[in-house]
Amino acid sequence: MKIPLYGKIIIGLILGIVFGIFAASNGWNQFTNEWISPFGKIFISLLKLIAVPLVLSSLITGVASLSDLQKLSRIGGKTIMIYISTTAVAATIGLVAVNILQPGDKLPDDMKQKLQSSYQDTASGKMEAAQQMKERTALQPIVDMVPQNFFNAASNNRNMLQVVFVSIIVGISLIQIGKSKSKPMLNFFESLNDVVIKLVENIMILAPIGVFSLIADTITTIAGDDINKVFELLGALGFYMIAVIIGLILQTTITYSAVLKIFSKMSLKKFYKGIAPAQLLAFSTSSSGATLPVTMDRCEKELGVSEEVSSFVLPLGATINMDGTALYQAIAAVFIAQTLGMDLSLGAQSTIVLTAVLASIGTAAVPGAGIITLVIILEAIGVPSVGLALILGVDRILDMLRTVTNVTGDASVAVAIASSEKN
Ligand code: ASP
Repeated sequence: MKIPLYGKIIIGLILGIVFGIFAASNGWNQFTNEWISPFGKIFISLLKLIAVPLVLSSLITGVASLSDLQKLSRIGGKTIMIYISTTAVAATIGLVAVNILQPGDKLPDDMKQKLQSSYQDTASGKMEAAQQMKERTALQPIVDMVPQNFFNAASNNRNMLQVVFVSIIVGISLIQIGKSKSKPMLNFFESLNDVVIKLVENIMILAPIGVFSLIADTITTIAGDDINKVFELLGALGFYMIAVIIGLILQTTITYSAVLKIFSKMSLKKFYKGIAPAQLLAFSTSSSGATLPVTMDRCEKELGVSEEVSSFVLPLGATINMDGTALYQAIAAVFIAQTLGMDLSLGAQSTIVLTAVLASIGTAAVPGAGIITLVIILEAIGVPSVGLALILGVDRILDMLRTVTNVTGDASVAVAIASSEKN
């Protein structure tokens, strides 16, 4: 029997969990670090390696194939509108979940103090990083989108929006110079695009091993030399985690089903089956950026999204659309306030929705970025940012889960836009 790719990835995931727990309980941390983790690092590096050429080649060929430029602005407008609406819904779901479950009131006092003292230093590091972000002016994100030098932009995956910007203006200029002049360059990018897509497929052969190694590494890193600490943390922050998990499940089942129902005829089964490998990868890497090549590949091959839509909607989504992150931030902000005994007014709660949408847009598509931008929300509602120390211990686990929602959200919007454009 031939096992499908997502089946193999699940096997890798389960074996990774089993091995990780075994290694952490038997003091095999150094062995895991030296002999297992490198395979995960290689796998992530390979994915990151192809992200820039993939976005560049597919977006340039995608834009250049558009017959009219009006279509581009229409797709752009629709995409950004749906992205912002789904993120606002996510933050609202988070608020409802945390207000109903009240996880902050269930944390015992001695645990509160313990958490605060053990994570104080890490929390101050995150607060410094957030301070640097906050000093940016309102138009700075737009200024940052325009690079001064293309090679600089392409040399760092964090500059994905700059690469998107360059690809769009190059694609538009290719249309303007006419077919005969643009042909040689287009041929080059089309061929580059085919090569990169083949590379994605080849790299995905390694996915089960990569996922095994990443999960084993995550577990041993969180557990340190005492796996019992993990169980203690899970127990203490259990209600908070349950609130986030319920919220993420509601967002993925209700909001994305609604998006698919309203804009397309695709069945949920087909959607989730098609996108499953990307979700599993998002879970293991905690990075929507690293998952991007696979999200694009699955949307095009399995869900029938045209290249012109996927190459625009998905890189943009990976950078600015983070529904899972916004939902988590709303819950975390209220949880910290509840734990510190602060009552949040209705005004403060609506500020959370607004700032969570903005903060999630500014969150980088890399592991642990969401907790840095969470500081901005905490400051907006007057909750001391040192409260971060309360949730840091379980953040990696929630990061894995919220990244799955982030990637699923991008894919559902890509399907919606493709259907509404009838391709
Ligand atoms: N890890 C998330 C992502 O890449 C961002 C976050 O930390 O919330 O989508």
